[in-house]
Amino acid sequence: MPTKALLISIGDEILYGQTLDTNSHWMSGELDSLGIRVSQKITIGDVKEEILHHLAEAESKADIVLITGGLGPTNDDLTKPCLVEYFDTELVRNEEVLENIRQLFARAGRQMSELNEMQADLPANCTAIPNVIGTAPGMWFERKGKIIVSMPGVPYEMKRMMKDTILPRLKEKFIKDGIYHRMVRTIGIPESVLAEKIKDWENNLPKHIKLAYLPTTGTVKLRLTTSGDSETTKREVQDQIDQVLPLINKYVYGFDEEEIEEAIGRMLKERHIKLAVAESCTGGYLSHKITSVPGSSEWFNGGFVPYSNQLKNEQLKVDNEIIRQHGAVSEPVVLALAENVRKEFRTEVGVSISGVAGPGGGTEEKPVGTVWIGYSDEKKTVAKRFQFTKDRMINIQFSALAALNMIRINLDKD
Ligand code: AMP
Ligand code: MG
Repeated sequence: MPTKALLISIGDEILYGQTLDTNSHWMSGELDSLGIRVSQKITIGDVKEEILHHLAEAESKADIVLITGGLGPTNDDLTKPCLVEYFDTELVRNEEVLENIRQLFARAGRQMSELNEMQADLPANCTAIPNVIGTAPGMWFERKGKIIVSMPGVPYEMKRMMKDTILPRLKEKFIKDGIYHRMVRTIGIPESVLAEKIKDWENNLPKHIKLAYLPTTGTVKLRLTTSGDSETTKREVQDQIDQVLPLINKYVYGFDEEEIEEAIGRMLKERHIKLAVAESCTGGYLSHKITSVPGSSEWFNGGFVPYSNQLKNEQLKVDNEIIRQHGAVSEPVVLALAENVRKEFRTEVGVSISGVAGPGGGTEEKPVGTVWIGYSDEKKTVAKRFQFTKDRMINIQFSALAALNMIRINLDKD
């Protein structure tokens, strides 16, 4: 029987639709990577009876119960008193936790209140899990081989605790064989087309290697998983990857945790060249993605948002006549933008985006979702037309990804 985990998200705000439960989504992925099966997720409000009822049910059903939320210092957060009642125990002040809270306040130059001090009072039967970036510690309970962990709802605090303490402990306790994952990351090919291309390979996979398709906006990841992480197993997985790559090479941008923007950074760095972008309809989103990569200053010179025709002309020297004749969303305009941003910003590669993000502004010839992307390097300047969706935000995301993919494809050609 695989180890079973049950996740409980606590907070009225989640039930009322004010907060999206991203915690359980993230935790599911992390547990899955370890080989721990999430059998159920439950969302409940800050209501004592509900919390007590679901704690008991969860403990009876699963080996691991992970709870987030309801640990704030205010009276509306009830998780801690419920845990005290549930385990029939009492609160004890934890000096180490108190010291951590004191230091947090001292560093922020803020006055500590009694409510904050009370966050160091923990149920006597738990082990405190340090929270290095917030005031509420996590609580780890063990009873008859089962684990119950309570964490703060704040996503970055929860993630830090999970990564630093909880996941390593769960791994040690529950995972004997280890589990091995490899990820092949693709872009620019729909899941169904990808599946068609690799179906013979997929049908011939050894039984102990499992394949999952993980699609997200504009990309599809192929995940190969085995239980056991011996060198032989790892080699077998690598052999399978080597077999599938020739079938899909055009679409593969990286492996494992590498995002497309990181892959582009790696490719530019390897070539000792830099990128500049002129992005109109994405309004800086492409630059944001790029600059989210640590160290991107080594390969990204900067971005410009020539949203108006005036700026396209004045700052990036796109001929007004071209804009008048072809419109801002057109091949000649993105060609000029890509080439000129490269020259003006003195980089080896320039990329441009101009499109109709919507919901308004579409015409019969250029409906909402029409996007032109330009690419320019020292040897060539090219452009491609894309037809995305009716949704503005999705069009912005797709455009940025398509631009990154266009860089990848063109750099690969050289
Ligand atoms: P709490 O531990 O209840 O004080 O939660 C603090 C904050 O974390 C809440 O105000 C929410 O903004 C956020 N939060 C709580 N639960 C979740 C969740 N399941 N997913 C994402 N954010 C959450
Ligand atoms: Mg709350």
